[in-house]
Amino acid sequence: MNNWIKELEELDKKHFIHPTSPIKQQQQAGPSFIFTKGEGVYLEDLKGNRVIDGMSSLWNVNIGHGREEMGEVAKEQMSKLAYSSCFATFSNEPAIRLAAKLAEVAPGNLSATFFTSGGSEANDTAYKLARHYWILKGKPNKQKIITRTKSYHGVALGGTSATGLQPFREFTNSIAPDFDYVDHFSSEALRRKIEEEGPEKIAAFVAEPVQGAGGVHIAPEEYFKEVRVICDQYDILFITDEVITGFGRTGTYFGIEHYGVVPDMMCFAKGVTSGYAQLGGVMMSDQMYEEFKELSTGTLLHGYTYSGHAMACSVALKNLEIIEKEQLITRAKEMGGEMLAGFKELQRKHSIIGEVRALGLMGAIEIVKDQNSKERYQTALAPIIVTEAAKRGLVVRSVVFDSQDTLVIAPPLIINKKEIEEMMTILSNTFAEVELKMI
Ligand code: PLP
Repeated sequence: MNNWIKELEELDKKHFIHPTSPIKQQQQAGPSFIFTKGEGVYLEDLKGNRVIDGMSSLWNVNIGHGREEMGEVAKEQMSKLAYSSCFATFSNEPAIRLAAKLAEVAPGNLSATFFTSGGSEANDTAYKLARHYWILKGKPNKQKIITRTKSYHGVALGGTSATGLQPFREFTNSIAPDFDYVDHFSSEALRRKIEEEGPEKIAAFVAEPVQGAGGVHIAPEEYFKEVRVICDQYDILFITDEVITGFGRTGTYFGIEHYGVVPDMMCFAKGVTSGYAQLGGVMMSDQMYEEFKELSTGTLLHGYTYSGHAMACSVALKNLEIIEKEQLITRAKEMGGEMLAGFKELQRKHSIIGEVRALGLMGAIEIVKDQNSKERYQTALAPIIVTEAAKRGLVVRSVVFDSQDTLVIAPPLIINKKEIEEMMTILSNTFAEVELKMI
């Protein structure tokens, strides 16, 4: 093997602690890909392997890889002003323009934005602002955050504590207090929890419009309408976590639009820059922001060094311009339909495929031992399928939390029909191979 590649693999093993990765596997086999180039839906590694990025990397590269205009806008902004602080009321034009643009595209009366560097910070910010809001309103005991089973809200202490997937919470022996969990699809469970705990202790309810990392779970049609009514009834803030579902992923600008309700606060990240810069944030409704303006007398003691980063905000503005100009939201809806049709075709051909589902370009394929009984294999097959698909040129992801055995798939919104067919061919070949092994 090329010495240069060998050297990088060794340096990776010795010095690079990878996020959300199996350390033993990295130490034995080295990094599975060292990517050097991206173009559209494809990624290329040092060894010349070309793969379809069937996960838009981490559900975020919505406009696809290798867009030169993104590099140009970053360079232009960096040469003028890469960054300056936004503390103490200092500001910069890209942050102001992006906040205004977000107010234009966000659902309902969400109109003011607090910027962060990513989704975990966005979630922690939302919880803190919700709690602070109730202090300002003279209800300091309203501090609990209710979240859902199978949810994922990031890895900072707040986001970890809010995450409904237990292994993330058990990663350490201590999580933050004042978080509680209810069944992910039952509005009645939320009502019961509020009544048990007492609404006077609850600050907010937080939910992903479509649960992503937990296995792409799409809520029943009426669920969020009922949630909105319950939150209003008990005077509890409703926060949506649109970190994955924002910016076109599900075929609407924001995922909650499918359900016709408007949250009080909304977290976003990922697709706001399509991964071309690190950015996230929290939006707040007009009404809430008015109350903050009226009731806040001191300094808002919450801020990240990179809140309102000028270069990242200019990259986001360009990204949103591309999403709109190329009509990528409509395209996500259309190509999402193609992808789901492809899943159904695979399901007819392969007996190990159980339920398939998708909303826009956010989809899942469940693996079962028996299509009728939906019984699962004792050892999940999805991780094997992921490895085999990667060898054949497709990167997808497995979800095995809560005894699931699921593949999740979320390609860039620029994907075309031919590339979807290519994904389906690779998946079909992979399923055929794995099925053979199971007989
Ligand atoms: N919230 C949701 C719904 C997510 O899917 C993620 C990441 O996948 C996060 C929050 C955390 O975002 P980040 O990884 O940018 O901190």
